Parts: sequence; C-alpha cells; structure tokens
Amino acid sequence: MSNVIYLDNNATTRIDPQVFEVMCGWLRDGYGNPSSGYALGRAALGALDAARSQVAALASCREDELIFTSCGTESINTAVHAALALDPDKRHIVTSTVEHSATIKLCEHLAQRGYEITWLPVDGLGRLDPAQLEEAVREDTALVTLLWANNETGVLFPVQEIAEIVRRKKSLLHVDAVQAFGKLPLALEDAGIHFLSASGHKIHAAKGVGALYVNRRVRFTPLLRGSQENARRGGTQNVASIAGFGKAAEIAAAHLGGPTVSGYRDRFEAHLLASVTGCTVNGDRANRLPTTTNLSFDGIESEGALILLDERGICCSAGSACTSGSIHPSHVLKAMGFSNERARASLRFSFGRFNTPEEIAAACEIVPAAIEKLRTLSPAGSPVVVTA
Ligand code: PLP
Repeated sequence: MSNVIYLDNNATTRIDPQVFEVMCGWLRDGYGNPSSGYALGRAALGALDAARSQVAALASCREDELIFTSCGTESINTAVHAALALDPDKRHIVTSTVEHSATIKLCEHLAQRGYEITWLPVDGLGRLDPAQLEEAVREDTALVTLLWANNETGVLFPVQEIAEIVRRKKSLLHVDAVQAFGKLPLALEDAGIHFLSASGHKIHAAKGVGALYVNRRVRFTPLLRGSQENARRGGTQNVASIAGFGKAAEIAAAHLGGPTVSGYRDRFEAHLLASVTGCTVNGDRANRLPTTTNLSFDGIESEGALILLDERGICCSAGSACTSGSIHPSHVLKAMGFSNERARASLRFSFGRFNTPEEIAAACEIVPAAIEKLRTLSPAGSPVVVTA
C-alpha cells in the first residue's frame, strides 16, 4: 500500500507510529485488567488515568467528565439516551438534516418510538441558521444534538452561538465533535455544552475507541450498565486503544492550529479550481475544517471517478465512508439543495499530517487528468463505469 496517496482522512486516519508504540506495549505486556487490584491491573488502570488526562487536556475539561467508549457512534447513542432519561416527559429532539448517519439513524429510530424530531435545514453553503434553532427549541425539548464539523463538507456549525441559545431555552446540548476533535481548539470548561462525542480513529489512534464528555453538572444515566468507568460505561476497557487515544490526543494538541494540513488542502483546492473547468467547492469556504475540500466536477459521476482514482493510487470518497458503496447521492449535499446530478458529481478530499508535499504535487497532476479522462469517456452528465 506504500504507493497510495491517502486523501480520505475524514473517513479514518493512519495510526501515528508513536501511538502504535504505546499500544504495542499494552497489548504485549500490559495485559492486566484495570479493575484488578494487583500490580499488573494497577498498571493498566494507570494507563487509563494517563489517557484520560491527555484527552482532558485536549478538550480543556476535567478528567472525571470523560467516559471512554468503543467509538463515536457509541458516544452519540449514550449521550442521546442519557439526555432522554433525564425527563421522560420531554419527547422532542432537535437535530439537523446533515448529521452523520449515527445521529440520523438513532433519531429515525426514536421517531418510531414516539419522539418528535425537528430536522433543522441548512442553506446552500451547508450553514445552519441560529434563528431557526431558537424557534425550534421548546419547553418539551429533551435535547439539541448537532454536529460541530460536517464530515462530508467540513462546514462548521456555530457551536458557541448554539450553546448560548440552548442555555437560554433551558434545554440540553450534545455536540458531535468526531470530526472537529483534535483539529480545532476546544475549551469545554464553561462552553455550555452538556455532552460531546469524540473518536480515536479520526486523530491517528486506533478504530474502536471513543470518548464521551459529560458535563459534571448533568445527571448521567449509562447506556451500557456495569461497574467500569465509574459505573458510567460497563465493559472492561480497551486499555491499549485507550492508551493510544491518549497519546494521539497529546500529539494532536501539539499540532493544533499548525499550517501544514490546511496548506495541503488549500494548495490542492486552488490547483484544481485553476486547472479543471467546471470545478466548484461545495460548502462554506470561510468556515470549515482545515482538512477538507468537497468538490463538484461538471459532467462526471463520482462512482466512476472513485474507481479511476483508486486505480491511479488516490484514496478519496464520495459522500461519507459509511454511505459509500450505495448509489444514493449524499444526503448532506441534497440537504444543501443540490440536484442529484451535482451531488453525484462530487468528491471529498480530506488531508492529514502524514501527507507529504510530494503527494500533494502528485495528486494535483493525477486528479485533473482523471477528471479529463472521465469527461472524454462519458458525455456530460451520463453515468460511466470505468474499467481502465
Ligand atoms: N460523527 C461523525 C461526524 C463522523 O464523521 C463519524 C465517523 O465517520 C462518526 C460520528 C462515527 O464515529 P465512529 O466511526 O467512531 O463510530
């Protein structure tokens, strides 16, 4: 896989070698159960404590406000269930039409169980209107659950403004920060956020580890019952992955705000806009993650483009990884008012700190050539399956 140019860092990231080292130590030698009282167990518990303080430092929160989970999806499900358990009479949830499938599927399920869901729309640039949120939150709103950064476009929701509205309306706020965590500065202390979800594999840790922040003033009801994590998340902790997540958080904190990744994105995006006709940026360029560009190319089909780019060594995606493989146009781009044709002509490129300037230079050659080839193979707008 060494020749692959990996431009799909919103789907997942490569494990940082330093994270890998930390994990190997715990997998190989530190196999004690953190709940065991002897030295081997205490050492594992120490690894959890260290990781908790590293993740807390990145989030500017207290260590006792963090629960380790198995992934971002579990964190989201836990937060929503905890909020609903607080007051069973509150049967209304506010979310948006551009959430990750973890939230969308959960809210659809809750709708079948009798909850009323308000799906806030976004505008053509993927932006949320805070006035619409203000209008949507009611006395019986149990929870507002919204993304911080969109996984497909990178567009940011105004989390501070959202928190202020939710506070005024006396409801609860969960933020899905899976894409933003470790990429944008975050100060949870006094942020007015009640729950926040994060995931290790988006910041160069392993897949299958996540964290949930629960503000210490919120009464918490666990989803998985058991004694671990202070009885807030049952199940023996995945010590190696959690220790690796802690290391990844420490490294992310050191890189936060650095110009490298946004420089790669900007260079690639500017080159494509200048060299490919009919190329447009999807989403609010002024307000998005530094890692992400989502581009439409007139007259192509993203499925054919993905095959051709894969053959030429480029990993990127059409829509989110969780929905790729399906022929449905991205629900995010559709929610932004795109036609099926334009939504299907869109590709997401997401950059990370393991990319190199040479890779970006190569991608600047390969991608325009591939788009050109697709256009010569297919009359504008008609589907094409590329075999060469
Ligand atoms: N939320 C967002 C915005 C995501 O991008 C993802 C993963 O792609 C998730 C939630 C789910 O995280 P995980 O893969 O850790 O379950």
